[in-house]
Formats: sequence, C-alpha cells, structure tokens
Amino acid sequence: MLYTNLNINEKGHLTLGGLDTVELAKEYGTPLYVMDKDRVRENCRAYRTAMQKYFGKDCLPFYASKALCFTDMCRLAAEEEIGLDVVSSGELYTAKRAGFPMERVGFHGNNKTDADIAFGISLGVGHFVADAAEEIEVIEREAAKAGIQQKVLLRVTPGIDPHTHAKIATGMVDSKFGAAIETGAAMELTKQILGCPHIDFEGFHCHVGSQIFEASPFISAVDIMLDFISQVMAETGYIAKILNLGGGFGVRYTEDDPKMNLEKFIHMVADHLDTKRKEYCLPRLTIYMEPGRSIVADAGITLYTVGTVKKIPGYKNYVSVDGGMADNPRFALYEAKYTVLNAERANADCDLICTVAGRCCESGDLIGENISLAEPKRGEILAVLTTGAYNFSMASGYNRLCRPALVWVEGGKSRVAVRRESFDDLLEKDL
Ligand SMILES: *Cc1c(COP(=O)(O)O)cnc(C)c1O
Repeated sequence: MLYTNLNINEKGHLTLGGLDTVELAKEYGTPLYVMDKDRVRENCRAYRTAMQKYFGKDCLPFYASKALCFTDMCRLAAEEEIGLDVVSSGELYTAKRAGFPMERVGFHGNNKTDADIAFGISLGVGHFVADAAEEIEVIEREAAKAGIQQKVLLRVTPGIDPHTHAKIATGMVDSKFGAAIETGAAMELTKQILGCPHIDFEGFHCHVGSQIFEASPFISAVDIMLDFISQVMAETGYIAKILNLGGGFGVRYTEDDPKMNLEKFIHMVADHLDTKRKEYCLPRLTIYMEPGRSIVADAGITLYTVGTVKKIPGYKNYVSVDGGMADNPRFALYEAKYTVLNAERANADCDLICTVAGRCCESGDLIGENISLAEPKRGEILAVLTTGAYNFSMASGYNRLCRPALVWVEGGKSRVAVRRESFDDLLEKDL
C-alpha cells in the first residue's frame, strides 16, 4: 500500500485508519472525503519536532491552510502548537472562529486587498508576508491607524527553478509572487519597509514551488537568501531575524513518486544553513517553513460510487464515478496522477485499464487515465488515494453538484467534520 495507514481487511475491503472504507461509504454516502486525523497529527508533529531539533526551539512550521481549511482542521493545528498560514480573509476568519491563536497566524497572498489588510490587523494577525510596494503602504497606513507596530516578512523570489510543474513553480524571477532579488525589487522593498515606523520588520520569506522531492532547491534557496540577507546588512545595516523557507515538500500520489525522509531533509537543510550563516558572519536565524500538502495529503482519500462502465472497443474504457472535477479539479488543472483502487476488492487482480471519469459536462473532467483496476460494476466503491490536500479546498459547485461531506477517522471511530452540502444550501444565497 502507498501509505501505512491504508490496509485491506478480511473482506478484501480497503481500510483507512483501521476503518472499512466500503462501510464508511455506506454510512455517509458518496462522494466522500475521508481523512485520517491521527495521520494529520503525526505529520504536524514530525515537522515541529524535526524543525525544533535541527533549526532551534523557536522554529515553527506554519501549516499552509489553503491545502485544506475548515474549522476543526484549524483547531487541530492549534492543538499541535504549530503556526497557520492564511491567504484570504475567509481562511483567517475560519482560524479565528476555530479559536486559533492569532499571533501564530501569517497572512499571505500576492494581492491582499485593503479590506484583507484592515481585517487582519483588526483580528491581531501575527504577521503579514508582504508581496508588493502597494501592500506595504496599506499595512503601514492601517497599522498607524490602529496605533500598533505590525510584524511583516517580505516575500522574495530567489530565482530558482524547482523542476516541478510550471503551474506550481513559484520561485522564478517572472513569478507573480513576491519581489525578485535579481531585478533589485527585493532590495527596494526592503528599504521601503525599513522606512515604515509602524512596521516591525522581521525578515524574509521565499517559497520555491510544490511537490519537490529533492533537498537541492531548498539548499539553493538558503544560499541565495543568506547572500541577500548579508547584502541587505551591508547596504542598510538591517539584520533579518526570521527566514521563512516556504513549503513544497512532495508527497506520494503513486508508487512512482519517491519516498522522502522529512527528518533527514530538515537535518540537511539545517546543517547547510548553519555553515552558510557562519561564512556570512550572520547571527542565528529563526526558521519558519510552510508545509501544506505534506501535512494533509497522505491522510485523505476520496470514495466514489461507480456508475457507468463504458467500453469503446479499440479506443478506451471509461469508468464513471459520482464526483469528479467539482470535488477534485487537479487532473483538469495539472494532469495530476492518482492511485485508484476498487475499494471492495482491493486485493483482486487488476483486469481493466481505464479512464476514470467524473460526472461533469466537460471532457476534461477526469480523475485519471491509464488506470489499472479490478473491473468495477455499477454500485461498487472506488477509492482515490492521497486526496487530503487541494481537493476539498479546491472544490467547486460546478453543475450544481453538492460538495461532499468530509469525515474524520480517529482512534478507530469516524465522525462528520464538514457535512454534505444540501440542495437548500445551493439555493440559500439565491435571492
Ligand atoms: C502553496 C504554498 C505553500 C504550501 O505548499 P505545499 O506544496 O502545499 O507544501 C506554502 N507557502 C506558500 C507561500 C504557498 O503559496
């Protein structure tokens, strides 16, 4: 099995966190997101422990809540004593309502509105990651109005190609995110922030991309960022206290994806950082990281009920399910690959190569192509693995499909964390 929390029981059914997925589908209906809460906790702890061990006690992972955000997920992050990244007022409001400590929240985004910034300041958000000159002006103005000193990090584009999908590479000079070092923009914005009396400038942020399996892009980021920090020190006298290395740690969607060792990876980056820091004669930095996918992806699966099985001789076989791009747009967006199983006969030989299709009125509404399955029949349950990140959070209401429920599995029990959307929910906002 792709992950240790997955297994097969005596009936041949796929289990997650010890619970029979076919039974879960029967109890809660499909499509259904099922999340192993214990696994999410383990992932949070793995980051927190390794970061504090190798980077230092004040170092913290900030969970990138865009990967999966709902009230109880924010509560879990609070209980695990990690930080939280938000990219919108909606995510921030969810965190606030969950009772998440605002001082451990970082507010991100490449285009925060004036209202976002004012809302963040009114809720007492820990820090903003400023992305552009206009944002810095608004943060300074709103902080002055509130009579506070607002903590800020500056997002810098280090100019690194992380060898990942173009749509998830974010650290290159031509990125829409942050200020590039190469063009001088990063230095210019640094000076702008230093001139703001109501901003407490804490340091710098960079995020190279997503689904990265090698340490090398992070090592390069450390080199470039430390070089920049020392340049800033020489030119302005300012010494950064915090360096945020972003997120992007890869997860396994299929057996072809490599296995990663988080602790080893953090140890490597920490060693490199320390060597470089000494070379540049810089004081110790507080390190933040922002894992999203690697906190939640492997904890989640999606269960679907099979509908039509259509064979087009000489062409393709289609297995259609009762969900698709509305609950998981990642194939449509990035041709993302997934592992799909017949959850009812998880041990059986795969005797059908097929395209797993969704039910939306789009030819591109697919879950995957060239998928080997134990040939399913109408009414059987399919499981798509590794859907904990960027599925629920990217879901849409296309075709007026009701968004699926999300069920937590914890300690051998299950419960609904987010209920299924109803037809009345769909109409509620229509006046
Ligand atoms: C998306 C994003 C993350 C999280 O990335 P993952 O690949 O989910 O770990 C972290 N930081 C920033 C700025 C991001 O945009």
